[in-house]
Order: sequence, then structure tokens, then C-alpha cells
Amino acid sequence: MKINANYLNLEESYLFATVERKVSEYKAAHPDKKVISLGIGDVTLPLPPVAVTAMQEAAAELGKKETFRGYGPYRGYRFLTEALQKQYAARGVALEEEEIFASEGAKSDLGNILDLFARDNRVLVPDPVYPVYVDTNVMDGREIRFVDGTAENGFLPPPPAERADLIYICSPNNPTGAVYDRAGLKAWVDYALKWGAVILFDAAYERFVADPALPRSIFEIEGARECAIEFGSFSKTAGFTGVRCGYTVVPKALVREGSSLNKLWLRRQSTKYNGLSYVVQRGAAAVLTPEGQEQIDRNIAYYRENARLMAEALEKMGVWFTGGKNSPYLFFDCGGDSWSFFDRLLEEGQVVGTPGAGFGRNCKNFFRLTAFGDRDNTLEAVERLKRVLG
Ligand SMILES: *Cc1c(COP(=O)(O)O)cnc(C)c1O
Repeated sequence: MKINANYLNLEESYLFATVERKVSEYKAAHPDKKVISLGIGDVTLPLPPVAVTAMQEAAAELGKKETFRGYGPYRGYRFLTEALQKQYAARGVALEEEEIFASEGAKSDLGNILDLFARDNRVLVPDPVYPVYVDTNVMDGREIRFVDGTAENGFLPPPPAERADLIYICSPNNPTGAVYDRAGLKAWVDYALKWGAVILFDAAYERFVADPALPRSIFEIEGARECAIEFGSFSKTAGFTGVRCGYTVVPKALVREGSSLNKLWLRRQSTKYNGLSYVVQRGAAAVLTPEGQEQIDRNIAYYRENARLMAEALEKMGVWFTGGKNSPYLFFDCGGDSWSFFDRLLEEGQVVGTPGAGFGRNCKNFFRLTAFGDRDNTLEAVERLKRVLG
């Protein structure tokens, strides 16, 4: 028996474990202090009521012989995939229903999709980065190249000159909050078409885009159907981080070496996956109704206002940052080593954020704050941040 030795090449991620350890040590030493966390990437507002009702009703259906359901379709129930299709259509993206696959979330599909691609593809990953893109490829033993996001390019790196086969793009970005405009994404689509590469587009935060000039789906860009797969999620938009639901769009026009990736993905899913819970799919479909959209828009507006308050404070202090406008993240220049800044902010302000050093080599002096906190805590954190930075 031999293990997959690629796992030995994974770098230990100490980021959130270290943050957690430092915070609990501080709390133990200062039990009287109130610590505010703007660190983790989880939401705080509860589920929209339409989703709760729909899931209760769905559970009740499963409890009656006449309405019981067992295994569902591999791609998800039509009531969900058609609702997703309509959502795309409303934004001018015409998809076939068979191009949409419901899933348990974006993270697992981002990993699972790699089943379709040979080991000897060259992977291009922007740095800073959501660590899943790197680790899933290290597990498979693929060659990874990085493209540098820097303060100079606003953490929106353009395509490099060298070849790539698989490309990751996350926009609005975690951790930087930066969002590609149409021209920026078009450059990546053109690059992918030139090399015959495939873009894996992570749209987990699309709903935070408020500016209508900014793309929310890569399929808004001409040529993307021939070179991109898109991953969406109900997690950050509808509070489904614990419920679990996402979707993956694999266009039929995406063909490599004579094979339709849509067909390969269906084959992969029908072999290794039995679909997601009927109850959850009913909850997700309820989110996509007009009433559900109204309810989640209220939540998004709440998080957006949190982001705006933090952005305003940073602007006033003359601190350089990305995000905060079309994204729940703010990524700011903390003026020195981000772990030292983490310690200072915790000790002097009792605020917890995430050091940029944990996301890559290009952002060791940057610091991430999230807008997913409670309003009063966010307001208090802003005041404390002003004291520490000011
Ligand atoms: C949170 C997050 C996801 C998430 O997904 P799930 O649908 O909860 O699995 C995907 N990509 C990024 C960049 C995220 O931050």
C-alpha cells in the first residue's frame, strides 16, 4: 500500500489555527476585554425566512408516503437548475439548463473538477490566493505557476506571456476584495483562448457587485463559453455556509481534445456523486424567488454598509486598500509585517483580522477585514482601528 505522496508536499496552513491560538491566549490573559472578530470568512446573518419555510415544507413532504422522494437527479432538480438559468438570463447570460449542475458548494466542486484534467497540465494561480486552488493541485501533483497580484496592479494581475493550461480567477476576490472589470476579464478570456486553456472562475461573491459596469459572471465576456467553467455558491450570499449549496456551470461549447467537458463532468458526477439533499435544493430555489431575492438583498445591503463604514475610515486615514465596495472584504496596507500588525491590533484595539502573510508572498504587509460582522461591532471596530492606525 502506498499513499498519495503528493499529500506530503502540502504546506501546513497555520493561518487560521495561529489566529485562533493567539486570540484565545489573549482572551485568557484579558478576560475583561471585549474582542471583536472581523477575521473569519463566515456570515453572521441568519437564513432568509423563505428558505427556512421551504426547507420545513420539503422535510414534511419527505415524511409522507405520497410525497416522499429518494435519490434525485445528478445535476440537481429542474426546479433549481431552471431557477438558476432564469437568474443568469435576467443578467443577459443565456445558458441551457443542462449546462448548470447543482452541488453541495463551490469549494468541493473546485476540487472535484480537477478529475477532468490530466496531471501534466500547467496551472496558473494568482497570488494572493484562496488556498484551495493551490492545495487541490498539489494533491494531484500538478505544476503550479503564480501570477503576481501587487499594489501596482491593484491585486488584479493581467495574464502573463507564458503558457498555462488551467487558470484560476476569483472575482470579487477573496482575500483582496478586488474585482476585474470587463476589459480585465476579457484579457484573461483572450489569453485562455490563445493557449487552449480552461479558466476556473470562482464567482462566490458575485452578489456583492453593486456597480453595474462590473461583470458578475465570466459568461458576460465574449468567448468565455469556449474556455471557462464557473462556480457559484449560496454560502456568502444567502447564509448557506452551513446548509451547503452551490452550482457549477460547464458550457456545452467547452470542448478540449474533441471531448465535451460538460459530458465529462456529468459522467464524473453520476459516478462519484448522488446529488444534494432535496430539502436543501428547495431552500436554495426559494432564495431565487422574487421574495427570496428581496430578503437576501437586504442582508447583502447590511454587509455592504459594514464594508462602506470600514472603507470610509481607511480612506479618511489615507490608508491604501482594495475591496470594500463591490466585495465583503477589505485588504489594506498595514505598513509593515502583517503578523506584527495582527498582534498590535489585538493588544491595542482588541480587533481580530487576518494577516495577508497567510494568503501568499505578495501581501505580507497587507491585512484583511471582513464585512460579515454585526453592525455595532463593526462600528466599534472602526473606532478602535482608527485609534491603532491613527
Ligand atoms: C467561501 C468561498 C467559497 C465557497 O464556498 P462553499 O460554497 O461554501 O463551498 C468559494 N470560493 C471562495 C473564494 C470563498 O471565499
